[in-house]
Amino acid sequence: MVTQAQILQWLQAFASEIEQNKTYLTELDAAIGDADHGINMDRGFKKVSVQLPTVADKDIGSILKTVSMTLISSIGGASGPLYGTWFLRASTAVAMKQELTEQDMLELLQAGLDGVLQRGKAQVGDKTMLDVLSPAVAAFREAVRENQNTVEAMQQAVAAAQRGLEETIPMQAKKGRASYLGQRSIGHQDPGGTSAYLMLKSLLKVLESSVE
Ligand code: ADP
Ligand code: MG
Repeated sequence: MVTQAQILQWLQAFASEIEQNKTYLTELDAAIGDADHGINMDRGFKKVSVQLPTVADKDIGSILKTVSMTLISSIGGASGPLYGTWFLRASTAVAMKQELTEQDMLELLQAGLDGVLQRGKAQVGDKTMLDVLSPAVAAFREAVRENQNTVEAMQQAVAAAQRGLEETIPMQAKKGRASYLGQRSIGHQDPGGTSAYLMLKSLLKVLESSVE
């Protein structure tokens, strides 16, 4: 089970992970984009951080919806609408819930991924956050099918996310600003994939640190 308190902890943890990696994310985006990914994400998640106490007694769906609205209204660039959509779809998948089973968690992750796929119209292999989110969901699904608990499934998901992130390096970007570079986008890690990896990793950290 993932509790409402753990979801709040995860969002705070992700916000501070973004803050700590702001320069790194921006440097990755400087290589193949416009050097704003860390700035964009940090602006959005600083606002999320401020909003979280106001929804501390709400259900998980409402919390995630607030994150979505905050991101959509405060992050520019491609990543605002994409992360906004991820959180909006995730919120709908777990509407009204106070805790999440393995199956709920799978539905949350799948809904977020589907939202990004539909909103951004990119595919796996295009060198975007999808190259991290998609293998992570697949690994989580497989682990749940094998009756692993949420922590174990999340460990598999983060391992798959990390492999997916490394695989973005040799890819040529087909979507987003990096695609303007053509072959010159090859050899660099995708910034949005990197922030997506941090999102999943911070969730795992919170789940691992709490005794069930
Ligand atoms: P911008 O590209 O507008 O400057 P950011 O720098 O904040 O926005 O985010 C760039 C990241 O967004 C990329 O590294 C990539 O992972 C992701 N991205 C861009 N376009 C898409 C898309 N169509 N679908 C999924 N992810 C995308
Ligand atoms: Mg950018």
